[in-house]
Amino acid sequence: MIQTRLLQLRQQLPTGVRLCVVSKRHPAEAIQKAYDAGQRIFGENQVQELMQKVDLLPGDIEWHMIGTLQRNKVKYIAPFISMVQSVDSLPLYEELLKRATQHERRIDFLLQVHIAQEDSKAGIPREQLNEIAQVLAQRPEDRAYMRPRGLMGIATLTEDSREVEQEFAYLKSAFEELRLGLFSQEEAFDTLSMGMSQDWPLAVSLGANLIRVGSAIMGDRQY
Ligand SMILES: *Cc1c(COP(=O)(O)O)cnc(C)c1O
Repeated sequence: MIQTRLLQLRQQLPTGVRLCVVSKRHPAEAIQKAYDAGQRIFGENQVQELMQKVDLLPGDIEWHMIGTLQRNKVKYIAPFISMVQSVDSLPLYEELLKRATQHERRIDFLLQVHIAQEDSKAGIPREQLNEIAQVLAQRPEDRAYMRPRGLMGIATLTEDSREVEQEFAYLKSAFEELRLGLFSQEEAFDTLSMGMSQDWPLAVSLGANLIRVGSAIMGDRQY
């Protein structure tokens, strides 16, 4: 089932759009099935759960952190994480920089922007995005360890597709403004992560080039 759903979704993806399979609350065996069908990028939202799975799975998986990340847990994932999609503050950035430097490796990251109407969804408030981007843009010397790749956002969970469309359209415009502005010297600033099981086709039509799909591929989560 996992493999069929994965291959079907892949066939619908335009070239240039990457897929992060969200494997939270699914066991290593289920992740292995997706891996065997060629999937390499997986997203998890809890450090402890991720740590339990990493050693059970192939070493060439690209792990993405997609959930709220506490600074005191960065040290656990710094040795292997490929991308942190959920950077939402400068203190978190500094901690990631420190740990990446210690391990002499580079971590890619996205700035997570709060685009939803629900307060519960994490991310940098729209009004603060530019401030944070300005600080990062002035620190090219960090790039060997921390590389800004783009923006991530989670839309409101609603049947109202016009609302979701507005949120995605905002994120796309914020991304383009940074890409052509503050980060125009940075070729790697190329990733717009938006869209999940429910809304990924809309996200792709509005410019997403990385989508995060869990249940539509992996099935219902086990709690
Ligand atoms: C769980 C999660 C997803 C995937 O959600 P589905 O609806 O299962 O596709 C995507 N992004 C984030 C940040 C998540 O926490």
